[in-house]
Amino acid sequence: MRLVDLAPEFLRHEGRTLMGVRFDQAQSIWFECPVCRDGRGHHVLVSFAGRGLADDQGSQGREGKPSRWEVSGTGFGDLTLKPSVDCTPSCPWHGFVTNGEVT
Ligand SMILES: [Zn+2]
Repeated sequence: MRLVDLAPEFLRHEGRTLMGVRFDQAQSIWFECPVCRDGRGHHVLVSFAGRGLADDQGSQGREGKPSRWEVSGTGFGDLTLKPSVDCTPSCPWHGFVTNGEVT
């Protein structure tokens, strides 16, 4: 499945969350969960390392610590996130975003 088909948005966190920002200004991405999108869907929020986020902004891990991913590419079409994105146990999806492909 392509990331572009999951209604992705790049985000900045500045008190409130700004949507539709450019990739070079983005601090996070969210997109529809590739597993849950046919039912009661939800967004997957992934925040980027090295983009100036405070620890209490953006995605948070299960242990209450900030979770950050290395991001590369130029936009939705070729985005790569490392490491994998693990939504368990709140949803079954644990997968990868590699070169714009969600697996
Ligand atoms: Zn899900």
